[in-house]
Amino acid sequence: MTERDPRQFLANNGARYRAWRHHLHQHPEVAFQEHSTAAFLREKLTELGLEIIGGLANTGLVANLQGSGAGPIIGLRADMDALPIEEAGEHAYRSRRAGVMHACGHDGHMIMLLAAAEYLSSHRDFAGTVRFIFQPAEEAEGGGRKMIEDGLFDIAPVDAVFGLHNWPGLPLGQVAVQPGPMMAAMDLFSITIRGQGVHAALPHLGSDSIVAAGALVGALQTIVSRAIDPRHPMVVSLTQIHGGHSLNALPGQVDLQGTLRSFSSGARDIAQRRLHEIAAGIATTHNVSVDLTFTPAYPATLNHSGAAAFMAQVARRLPSNQLVLESFEPSMASEDFSFMLNARPGAYAWIGNGRNVALHSPDFDFNDDLIETGALFWIELAKGFLAGEFKPEQINPLGEPS
Ligand SMILES: [Zn+2]
Ligand SMILES: [Zn+2]
Repeated sequence: MTERDPRQFLANNGARYRAWRHHLHQHPEVAFQEHSTAAFLREKLTELGLEIIGGLANTGLVANLQGSGAGPIIGLRADMDALPIEEAGEHAYRSRRAGVMHACGHDGHMIMLLAAAEYLSSHRDFAGTVRFIFQPAEEAEGGGRKMIEDGLFDIAPVDAVFGLHNWPGLPLGQVAVQPGPMMAAMDLFSITIRGQGVHAALPHLGSDSIVAAGALVGALQTIVSRAIDPRHPMVVSLTQIHGGHSLNALPGQVDLQGTLRSFSSGARDIAQRRLHEIAAGIATTHNVSVDLTFTPAYPATLNHSGAAAFMAQVARRLPSNQLVLESFEPSMASEDFSFMLNARPGAYAWIGNGRNVALHSPDFDFNDDLIETGALFWIELAKGFLAGEFKPEQINPLGEPS
């Protein structure tokens, strides 16, 4: 393969990339189980002659591409995991695994990065290093954190790291990237209410955990509406409630689960404190015990300003040549690329998939037409970075929005 123009190269190989994407789509694997996915990536990357570091966060791997001499080091990250969702689509390459599907497009993310690796490895006319980072368990298990705990940036140091996610609701190939907030922080909480189970006709002889749960559900709605500065976006959502087995008995226990999404660490601290205070108040009022466990999960994804500007500058060169969005409302969903951005300078962008099916929908399918544009973006980002268009030492971390 000698095509120098990356657009020509990607177009000539487009059918192969689509076939690879369909293969991954047919064989989805959930968090930390991405064994056949990792084997597929390892085979392709080995064929390209890249040095591979495996065993990071179980199934994660890094492929290193050395240029012709010493120079800057850029990290490009794609996520690998699928979701425990039954696919609704009927296309020929639909998931062959019951109850598991690539409903977030990570199959396409891997192929966009693999295609970029193929082009760059066959055109090593640059100084420096490109590290292709394939990360497991993005969806809820914190594979990004695990990779860093396993020494990702000690074993494979980078000057800056970049992430990319396909995004519904934006035109095909349109890039959205801004300094500061992209995705919210995610915390999880679980609550156990213990009362005194009793005959349903004799409530005065027990203490009712169901009525206490009802009061708690209502009271938790006051956290966002009454305790948090309205200028700070936040969501408190209860996602599970379980209790009772009988028609004519009050259960002794009700269990609830929920999640908190936010951007401001100050507001997050207030919400955590109010969760505990409200739980204690409900316990007193309803004569039950309420145990609450709060588990911080993902920090907010906050782009470093210089890195975000660099991504936007490269995006403006794409042939789709659309307006690059550089100021927009962040998403209240969360992303564990935040752990990488907390460890190294960098930025995370959305790239429009030209469709309106929501991420995590059983009807979702990555748009194959995005593969070439996404791969081209990665290639141009790496080439620009290695050519010194962007100096990591100039990065001014934006930090926490006020
Ligand atoms: Zn997702
Ligand atoms: Zn995703």
